Amino acid sequence: MSEYYHDYFGEFGGRYVAEVLRTPLDELEAAFVEAMDDDAFHDELNAIASTFVGRPTPMLYAENSSREIGGARIYLKLEGLANTGAHKINNAVGQVLLAKRMGKSRIIAETGAGQHGVATAAVCAKMGLECTVYMGEVDIARQRPNVFWMELFGAKVAPVTGGQRTLKDAVNEALRDWAGSFANTHYLIGSALGPSPYPDMVREFQAVVGRETQAQIASMIDPLGLKTTALVACVGGGSNAIGFFAPFLKAATPRLVGVEAGGRGTGTGQHAARMLGLGRPGIVQGYKSLFLLDEDGQVQDTHSVSAGLDYPGIGPQLASLGMSGRVEFARATDAEALEALQFFARREGVIFALESAHGAAEAIRLARELSPAEAIVVNMSGRGDKDLFITAHELNPDGWREFLIQEAKR
Ligand SMILES: *Cc1c(COP(=O)(O)O)cnc(C)c1O
Repeated sequence: MSEYYHDYFGEFGGRYVAEVLRTPLDELEAAFVEAMDDDAFHDELNAIASTFVGRPTPMLYAENSSREIGGARIYLKLEGLANTGAHKINNAVGQVLLAKRMGKSRIIAETGAGQHGVATAAVCAKMGLECTVYMGEVDIARQRPNVFWMELFGAKVAPVTGGQRTLKDAVNEALRDWAGSFANTHYLIGSALGPSPYPDMVREFQAVVGRETQAQIASMIDPLGLKTTALVACVGGGSNAIGFFAPFLKAATPRLVGVEAGGRGTGTGQHAARMLGLGRPGIVQGYKSLFLLDEDGQVQDTHSVSAGLDYPGIGPQLASLGMSGRVEFARATDAEALEALQFFARREGVIFALESAHGAAEAIRLARELSPAEAIVVNMSGRGDKDLFITAHELNPDGWREFLIQEAKR
């Protein structure tokens, strides 16, 4: 077994798929392991990362915020400055390069809020591959701006009309497509979940965030004699968190903190917190992990103000790391995330994506408990421009509504 490929993480992970998908998954596993050991693949990946994605992304000392809080220093890893506004493009670039190496000419992807679809469509435009993005009809209606961008990049957005017409149904539709098309098509999953080898592959392609952070800690924090006590990241499926944490997993420090969507409060049932006892072991969409399930074992509805965190399952490696205690979990509510977004916007001139703002909220809490001789690094997994329709509606409902009415009259 290669150092990159685990298949299982403790009891979680694995490959629970229909017989017909065994062939493409075996083929993908072999190509992934081979590519990871090939310097030419990494050279090509690094070249695209620096010229197209915008790597390395900076790490910012949140000086004004840290002073005001008076505890640990807070640093922000600005993944939101990557092309298309979030970390998702790291994985999209890696998988598209791998698909080309495997001789595939077509990419399919699922998307919920549309961020993964936009990143995938952008990379396919750049690398000249045909792209179809499956998206539930309900999500298409809610996320019109992202549909617009995907189409601008030349992707086909295929509406999914089955089930609840959201992300879960889009995944099923993409799997159905792949079962009949894998000879020329790669299925590009957007988070560190799904049947193996996806959780391993997505972690490896996102680990660039953690490696850069390690180097930035060494050049910006260590020389000040500060101790880096914790890394903090939000957790939807888990790709930005596992990539950020990856180089630190084998060491005992720093503390690694994953922050889930507390929504309107876990007592209300309107949240997406799967760790700390709320999720139950299950096998959903090809892998074993912790999921929010009802009494009958059906996947529960979730809620979060951030479209990227409202997934009912968590990537298998993070589930396992949560059980072993290497990764700690915390929650931030919708209100706390919006509060943190405003806090850092006012003091640092950066807008957190609503997902990443959950990590920011936890960082503020943690910093208060720690001393000025310590540092925390938060992964700002994305920037908040994409959330304009939600954030403006939440923070200035009347003004925003008036603007939309005027726009509709144009
Ligand atoms: C999609 C998304 C997330 C959640 O996905 P993970 O796989 O958990 O990282 C977090 N932040 C941003 C900005 C996203 O677009």
